[in-house]
Amino acid sequence: MFARLSHKFIVAMTLVSALTISLASFLIDRAMDRQFVSFVEEAQQQANMQVVDAVRELYRLRGERANIEEQLRLLGTAGNVEIVVNPSEDHHPMMGRGMMGRGSMGMARRTTSELIMADGTAATVEVIPDISLEQADREASFRKAVNGSIVVAALLSLAGALLISVLFSWRLTKPLQDLTHMVRRVGQGDLTERVELTGNDELTYLGQEFNQMATNLERHEKLRVKLTNDMAHELRTPVTTIQAYLEAMGDGVVEASGENLALIVGEAQRLGELLEGLQELAKLEKPRMEHKSVDVTEVIGVLVRSLRILAEDKGLTLRWDHPEVPLNILGDRDMLATALRNVIFNAIKYTSAGGFVVISAGIKGSQVKIDIGDSGVGIESEDLPFIFERFYRTDRSRSRETGGTGIGLAVTAEVVKGHDGKIEVQSQPDVGSTFTIYLPLHMAP
Ligand code: ADP
Repeated sequence: MFARLSHKFIVAMTLVSALTISLASFLIDRAMDRQFVSFVEEAQQQANMQVVDAVRELYRLRGERANIEEQLRLLGTAGNVEIVVNPSEDHHPMMGRGMMGRGSMGMARRTTSELIMADGTAATVEVIPDISLEQADREASFRKAVNGSIVVAALLSLAGALLISVLFSWRLTKPLQDLTHMVRRVGQGDLTERVELTGNDELTYLGQEFNQMATNLERHEKLRVKLTNDMAHELRTPVTTIQAYLEAMGDGVVEASGENLALIVGEAQRLGELLEGLQELAKLEKPRMEHKSVDVTEVIGVLVRSLRILAEDKGLTLRWDHPEVPLNILGDRDMLATALRNVIFNAIKYTSAGGFVVISAGIKGSQVKIDIGDSGVGIESEDLPFIFERFYRTDRSRSRETGGTGIGLAVTAEVVKGHDGKIEVQSQPDVGSTFTIYLPLHMAP
């Protein structure tokens, strides 16, 4: 395919060059020809004028026509011209030498001038150059030589144009070949393939975009594999527990007591939670989040109302220091509600009876700042960098039978990132944690 593309390119370039060079050669040839002819004619005219001046001088000094003929002949021979003097009355020709230089070619090289004779009569002197065959030959061979040079120059230019077009077409098609190779490899599943980039033209940018696309695909593929592994790992525990208990009960090894059944129900619930979390994760994959004006104050207000009962049931104080003004951001209301709910829900979940959860929101610079603080179990500093990863749960939460899937904060982090915001956490074990979310403020137009 590219061989054909480069061939087409070379043929097109060569044709254009050939056409341009031929046209230029033709015009140069014509111009040279004209210049040459007028140069020869001018030179001849100048020489003729000198002869005319000499004739005039002869007449002035000698006066008598009869005595002059011999001098005129000598003058003509010396100047390689024919001199014809025609007295105005009798038009009797007096020649310097034989008839020469006739024909159309000689016309432009003749010179005719007025002459006043010694007796006061007027005459015309005509100088006719001798254009011998030899001279015509010399002129013809000069022109031939010039034409030959033009043809050589044209052929050299054509060869140059051909070489340049071959090099250029190679430079043009080589990156395309590399790109095709890379895209084919990526299409076949080798997501590590990249194209080498040099220069900074459109093809380089195209290559950059392809490389970026391959990098994204590779990252997504790694995430997909990790997610599938993590999912299998997380689902295996409850499924294995349920299966083991049910088999043991069936074999009569374990009693179908209320306590054991509750344990099975608990594991089944956990499975349900995991599936719910996975659904939330799947929602993040939807192609575009909405971008509408959302009042964060109002969203948190609704969440607080629905979670207050949960907090009170646990014996916690849930405080919402809400601002008096709306805090608008541009985004997806449902996704934001999910993200904030996960953090507030965690604060309630990881705080024991008697503790408190405080939520506040305000403006900091061009950002909406939301703080969710609790007096809960806190997070060890070595866990802090990982709590936003999928399925990550700290030992504290695992040991406390709080349930949880390790998906909530991963979803929150993704949603916040999708809104060009950021999330930070500060925590001290056994003292409490504060999650801070920043989202770009949206000024109403
Ligand atoms: P989970 O469903 O386990 O709560 P998350 O992704 O929401 O999953 O949180 C990840 C982990 O971060 C939790 O398992 C917990 O160990 C820790 N964590 C999150 N929020 C808090 C909090 N407010 N206090 C203490 N630990 C927390």
